Amino acid sequence: MSLTLVWSYFSIFSPSFTSLRHDGKPVQCSGLDMQFDPSEPGFYDDPDLSYSIEKPITKWDEKRNQWFESHPSFKPGSENRIVMVTGSQSSPCKNPIGDHLLLRCFKNKVDYARIHGHDIFYSNSLLHPKMNSYWAKLPVVKAAMLAHPEAEWIWWVDSDAIFTDMEFKPPLHRYRQHNLVVHGWPNIIYEKQSWTALNAGVFLIRNCQWSMDLIDTWKSMGPVSPDYKKWGPIQRSIFKDKLFPESDDQTALIYLLYKHKELYYPKIYLEAEYYLQGYWIGVFGDFANVTERYLEMEREDDTLRRRHAEKVSERYGAFREERFLKGEFGGRGSRRRAFITHFTGCQPCSGDHNPSYDGDTCWNEMIRALNFADNQVMRVYGYVHSDLSKTSPLQPLPFDYPNEAW
Ligand code: MN
Repeated sequence: MSLTLVWSYFSIFSPSFTSLRHDGKPVQCSGLDMQFDPSEPGFYDDPDLSYSIEKPITKWDEKRNQWFESHPSFKPGSENRIVMVTGSQSSPCKNPIGDHLLLRCFKNKVDYARIHGHDIFYSNSLLHPKMNSYWAKLPVVKAAMLAHPEAEWIWWVDSDAIFTDMEFKPPLHRYRQHNLVVHGWPNIIYEKQSWTALNAGVFLIRNCQWSMDLIDTWKSMGPVSPDYKKWGPIQRSIFKDKLFPESDDQTALIYLLYKHKELYYPKIYLEAEYYLQGYWIGVFGDFANVTERYLEMEREDDTLRRRHAEKVSERYGAFREERFLKGEFGGRGSRRRAFITHFTGCQPCSGDHNPSYDGDTCWNEMIRALNFADNQVMRVYGYVHSDLSKTSPLQPLPFDYPNEAW
């Protein structure tokens, strides 16, 4: 009875979290009890627990487990729960269309996260003054792990990485024995010793003590470390194609895999069977062709033409996967869209793109990638971009699209 009163009280003040059933009892829409935090002290109450990148976390697995014990409504489904984390500079972009591109890149991630039920966090501040540029993600990822004990995975996605397949889901079952998933190739680490053997711009990291320890070791090659200056030359002596002299997070991770293979290789999954991230040059110019290949599948099977609520989009993605896409790698020439297209080297915010390509090529192709992805989103809202270069206005879709000749 008293519990009912408490719930009724809360439901008056935050009607968005609960609604009343016909018998007057509140119903939690999500199944997650977001208004309950027991008064017994937990790890958050320990003044010695620090969010700082400079202080290691210990016994995180036990702490997370205790949190689940005291917040049981978060247990169901926790093994696949993902929080997406991304971010960008704290000041306006120098490139005149930089802020526009970053906004659209963020919208793209919000769309993907909403369709698949992931929470998303955006950081536009340095959490440690020395951990800037590509190092800035490590303090953010660590803080997100602490802020989200309910999530099994933190998914870092660079601001310049665009989801170009809104249906695809990372096959988490493949990573049961692993704690970090990055796009990469073992032979390029161990035989070719290249700093591009993996890409640190997109990764899934398990929310566990192993990952806390990894971040602690990883950051010790970064600007926060007293040894920072020595790490650049060490990295360059092994990975000879590394472009710039300072130690960077990507080469640092490759270094750990190279130098301490027995320690890291068994727990780091180097994914190369789909584009967990794909270099944009590799799919450049193919968005219109791959659109046509998807329309063909839709003309062939009316299930894919059926209108539906966005909330059940995953059912149609799974159907397409099963019927048409099994065994397709993705990217240029493939039936499958590239999952994530990474505009590495374009530097949309500063505009200081790699001199080997033309800036306008970067921005135009980013716009096309964004509209290509947006077409997959807007479909369930009833609209489509008539031309991938044209952001607005959208064109309304006829019933049973694309069955009629379009
Ligand atoms: Mn990037």
